[in-house]
Amino acid sequence: MSVRGGSDIHIIEFNARWMLTTTFKRLSGIFYYMVEVKTYRYKLYNRDALEYLDSILVIAGHIYNHCIALHRKYYALYHKSLNKYALQKHLTKLKKRYKRWNDVPSQAIQDITDRIDRSYKLFYSNLKKGVKTNLPHFQKSAKYKSFTTKQCGYKFHGNNKIRIGVKEFAYWNSRPFDGKVKALTVKRKSSGYYIYVVVEQESKTETLAKSGKIVGFDFSLKNFLVSSDGSDCSMPKLLQRNLNSLRNLSRKYSKSKGKRGSLRRLQKLHEKITNQRNDLHWKLAHRLCKTYDVMVFETLDLASMDRRFKKSINDFGFNAFLSILEYVAHRTGKTVMYADRYFASSQLCSECGYKNAALKDIGIREWVCPNCGTIHNRDFNAALNLQKVGASTFSKKHPITGAC
Ligand SMILES: [Zn+2]
Repeated sequence: MSVRGGSDIHIIEFNARWMLTTTFKRLSGIFYYMVEVKTYRYKLYNRDALEYLDSILVIAGHIYNHCIALHRKYYALYHKSLNKYALQKHLTKLKKRYKRWNDVPSQAIQDITDRIDRSYKLFYSNLKKGVKTNLPHFQKSAKYKSFTTKQCGYKFHGNNKIRIGVKEFAYWNSRPFDGKVKALTVKRKSSGYYIYVVVEQESKTETLAKSGKIVGFDFSLKNFLVSSDGSDCSMPKLLQRNLNSLRNLSRKYSKSKGKRGSLRRLQKLHEKITNQRNDLHWKLAHRLCKTYDVMVFETLDLASMDRRFKKSINDFGFNAFLSILEYVAHRTGKTVMYADRYFASSQLCSECGYKNAALKDIGIREWVCPNCGTIHNRDFNAALNLQKVGASTFSKKHPITGAC
């Protein structure tokens, strides 16, 4: 059994409605809160000016492709990878030749070189490990979707207005942010333009009242989660539910001549499904943290999961949910625990502890314990086992391994 966050720096990061990174620093064995970086997303309005962002993105895409070409040329000539700073210097010179490049904020151009540098580094580090990664490649400007700038190139005015480059935009201020703005990303999505404001702020934790409840959860491919106390933690399979509309739209897309419109409708539906799933994840995470003190899960090993179940796993988004739950638990003073990878939660009888190896076959949903005769539901029994092992570990307050 281990509590996530056992390293010096623990990062929780996800592409959610608002992304965040939390940094902990180890101080004499206690996890000490240091700084919280949060990202807020807002939608931009101003139909005339949005075209301006489109033009910036097109130029940014050109610059990106230009950089990729330079990287390749340099490698062909010298068999070395091009240094980021040398490239930045060269780009500054090129700005005199290509006047339109000046429309893109200079930090956004720096960010392009950073992005390429990061993906080259990832490529080389993966190469050493023997993992196959694609080299950064040329992109159509329609596929180039965002630019990031740190301190300059934008200014927040009052009244939910922001100036980006030379144009002013209104944004839908769904929740105001406070703290120091570290960076701003402008992103084109199928449903419109968004700004992502990265803010550094003090942590605000509100410790929820302790309920004294410890609960175990088994991942279920049918209902999302099965809890050890029988409470309903199910979630609909949103992709499955919208399958017919998705199929219709993609059929229309493959047949239509004016492909842009039908592609947009398809992308919009995908975005809607992602938003809905995300919303359900957050709601469930808050509900669980209100109800329970300690939540115990099995360690999810997606790599070893059967390919047949990949669709359901992706549809439920288990990993994204766990990231959200960990974050909410951290802020509300609750605990998320993970059983050891080798803990056979679904094979043990929760009554007498007998291990039934026949249950490796995932098709068996109900079984009778040969030792004590208890009738078990597979998922519920697993959740009970997780609850038990979590309760014993938590009361001892020190991690144990190899619980089976
Ligand atoms: Zn038994």
